[in-house]
Amino acid sequence: MEECRVVHSPTRGQNNEEVLLGDAVVLTKLDRAIGWARKYSIFPYPFATACCAMEYMALSMTPYDIDRFGALLPRFSPRQADLLMVIGTVTCRQAPILKRVYEQMAEPKWVMAFGACASTGGFYDNYTTVAGIDRIIPVDVYVPGCPPRPENVLDALMALQRKIQGQKQLLGETLAGRLQERKAA
Ligand code: SF4
Repeated sequence: MEECRVVHSPTRGQNNEEVLLGDAVVLTKLDRAIGWARKYSIFPYPFATACCAMEYMALSMTPYDIDRFGALLPRFSPRQADLLMVIGTVTCRQAPILKRVYEQMAEPKWVMAFGACASTGGFYDNYTTVAGIDRIIPVDVYVPGCPPRPENVLDALMALQRKIQGQKQLLGETLAGRLQERKAA
């Protein structure tokens, strides 16, 4: 655990209690401990609209096994999810629905733009397609590719985990406060 400092007991063993503690005592900051817990307990909400969803399904299969990162179990209620994975093309008619789903998620929450369509609109250069979901909601991590390889998604997930670990862990923050923090960054 790179974020924490393990306290070793004295090797002389004069005090039995100290010897028994061994490597069981870990000192860290509350902020880091919360970040560590949050980054390894991600519950994704898959907002899957198009062909990228096939790659999303592959993530839970044997070669990739997203469960290794603590992010396997999809939640199909936004109130129980903290990572919104927008997977595929988003049309202008779907945009209000996506925004509503995002707003229903509790803080802290993060967003992944999964694939070229979610990130930029992809090759759909027309009036019906949203040219990137960051026009509707804030995005924390983008995954390139059409479709992206599962390795790309895992790479983005690890980048998000580093971001979660590194950010200030706000408790009970409001959506307005979170948005102000994003604007200031
Ligand atoms: S990025 Fe490519 S694979 Fe993914 S939804 Fe768009 S067209 Fe389909």
